[in-house]
Amino acid sequence: MTVQPDTFEFKTEAKQLLDLMIHSVYSNREIFLRELISNASDALDKIRFEALTKDELRPFAQDQHIRIEADKNKRTLSVIDNGIGMNREELVQFIGTIAKSGTKEYLKTVRESQGKVSLPEFIGQFGVGFYSSFMVSNNVEVITRKAGDDKAWKWESKGDGTYSISEASRETPGSSVTLYLKKEDEEEDKHGDTHDYTSEWTIKELVKKYSDFVSYPIKMKVEKREYERDSEGKIKEGTEAKVTFEDEILNSMKAIWTKSEKDVTESEYKEFYKHISHDWNDPLKWITYKAEGIATGDFKGLLYLPSKAGSDLYFSDMWKGIQLYIKRVFIMNDCKELIPEYLRFVKGVIDSDELSLNISREILQQNKQIQNIKKAVSRKVLSAIKALKQDEPEKFKSFWKEFGSVIKEGIFKEPEDKERILETAVFMSTHSSTETYTVDQYIERMKPAQETVYYLTGDTRQRIETSPLLEQFKDKGYEVLLMTDPVDEVWVNFVFEYKGKKFQSIAKGNVDLGTEEEKKRAEEERKQKEVSFKSLMDCFKSKLEEDIKEVRLSSRLTSSPSCLVSDMQDMTPQMEAILKATGKDVPKTKRILEINPTHPIVSKLQSVFEKNSTDPMLADYATLLYGQALLAEGGKLPDPAGFNRKLNDLMIKTMLI
Ligand code: ADP
Repeated sequence: MTVQPDTFEFKTEAKQLLDLMIHSVYSNREIFLRELISNASDALDKIRFEALTKDELRPFAQDQHIRIEADKNKRTLSVIDNGIGMNREELVQFIGTIAKSGTKEYLKTVRESQGKVSLPEFIGQFGVGFYSSFMVSNNVEVITRKAGDDKAWKWESKGDGTYSISEASRETPGSSVTLYLKKEDEEEDKHGDTHDYTSEWTIKELVKKYSDFVSYPIKMKVEKREYERDSEGKIKEGTEAKVTFEDEILNSMKAIWTKSEKDVTESEYKEFYKHISHDWNDPLKWITYKAEGIATGDFKGLLYLPSKAGSDLYFSDMWKGIQLYIKRVFIMNDCKELIPEYLRFVKGVIDSDELSLNISREILQQNKQIQNIKKAVSRKVLSAIKALKQDEPEKFKSFWKEFGSVIKEGIFKEPEDKERILETAVFMSTHSSTETYTVDQYIERMKPAQETVYYLTGDTRQRIETSPLLEQFKDKGYEVLLMTDPVDEVWVNFVFEYKGKKFQSIAKGNVDLGTEEEKKRAEEERKQKEVSFKSLMDCFKSKLEEDIKEVRLSSRLTSSPSCLVSDMQDMTPQMEAILKATGKDVPKTKRILEINPTHPIVSKLQSVFEKNSTDPMLADYATLLYGQALLAEGGKLPDPAGFNRKLNDLMIKTMLI
């Protein structure tokens, strides 16, 4: 009895992605082979790692290799591995679905971008390597058996929106991916591409170009012709060649991190990056590292800074991260113990000469040498980023745009690296509308008596730049750093001092600018004025009690009548919003309303109050001043309709006709 295969529909995103692949005019379609080889190599890594702890899998982690088989007549190309394999659920989960968060949004962007977002850049975000097979084939078949299972499965699809899975047979664990290639001339017509992917020469070229450093042998049966020769070694005339097929290893398997930099070409470095990271974009920079020391033991490293942030930035289970090798033997992918979380975008290899080959996750976490390597690696990466900033400022700019917000997490997650990160981090500033600066550059420009680095956080530059909180600073010519990354709201709470200078948000506490003497004078003046304005301020406070904990006179304001500030230890409204967005239940923090005693509205209100302290106008004005202060910082009014009503009444009253 033949069992009908089960048919499945690809999940929507997978279907859309396939459509994109099939109709793609992406000219570099040959990379499909690199993707399949990378998947095979990953599958071999996985079984090798599993076999370290599971004795029953050990027999399957022998003679590890990848085989390529091409059939010119049938026009098929197969990539076969004896790696971990997949069971039925995994086939559905890994190949039929793209579970990667954000795919949907990205597909929408690609469709709406009308060609502005390029396909490789897009795919680079997701590493949807397997689907690239559909760029060159009409039909793809995977026969796979998971190590430890008896059953094998066949997955098949024409890329038409459905795929089928049926039982199959496979003697040993592993996967065979077979592509039924599109007709060569059809290809040529549509894409101007003449590659014949079944040709021995083409395959050899592609493996050399993209996968030479893969650490498992990539084997293929190649044609050998032997001729009968005479005693001088010349081919005997009229004799036919004897054709045999012999296994040849197509890749050199050279660990490129062990070679000296001058012996590795730029393109080899780039291809190696693509292999380990599954990123289709070129890396921004690579860092070679050779360390000798007692704390770390001898180790070599090859680390990459990507040029684009992938979707793995915020989903820790998807990091491709750092591969750990011990004495040239692959141990594991994505070794999180080797790199601090805030540098999780760094990809590469660390190859230790001294760790034991039988290392397990548990040992890794406690191993002192690993911890020291991690420290050394983060230092190396940070100094490479610093050098990038100095030597290639344009590259640094784009790098910081992609990864700056993640790096700043390190300020509070890795206190040891705090100062180093702050030396490199750049911020917008009132000093320039286009340039960004380090805190050190800010410090260099500080006024002689200035002891504090001033900053203001908020959600966009446009919003905070027009904040009344900046009035006094602009007036007196003091620079303020403008910070708009959500993470800025967090790390600033961990930095009170940097290189002997205090750090202060200009939205918090009291800020008096100038020399000690000037500050003292300002304070005294304010105290005097406070006496005369006290009753008015108390009146405002009683009217705004629900939202405001204090009303006081401001030394920040020069042209606005009011603004809102927080106490030094209070949460800013932006921080409150961030916590709320993460589902935290945050109590409302009441803020401080500062009013400007030199503003005509405030002085007139004082006169109104002196004439009649129960004038109902006072309550309306209190609400309007509070509302204005909220609007000026881009906040939301608690009662917009009420605010408008009060404003309208006022407008009518002031119209004299
Ligand atoms: P990526 O490799 O970037 O995760 P792919 O679409 O290429 O994306 O592959 C999806 C998943 O399918 C892989 O993560 C892996 O779990 C599984 N897979 C693909 N090829 C193989 C293979 N040859 N052996 C085992 N698993 C594989």
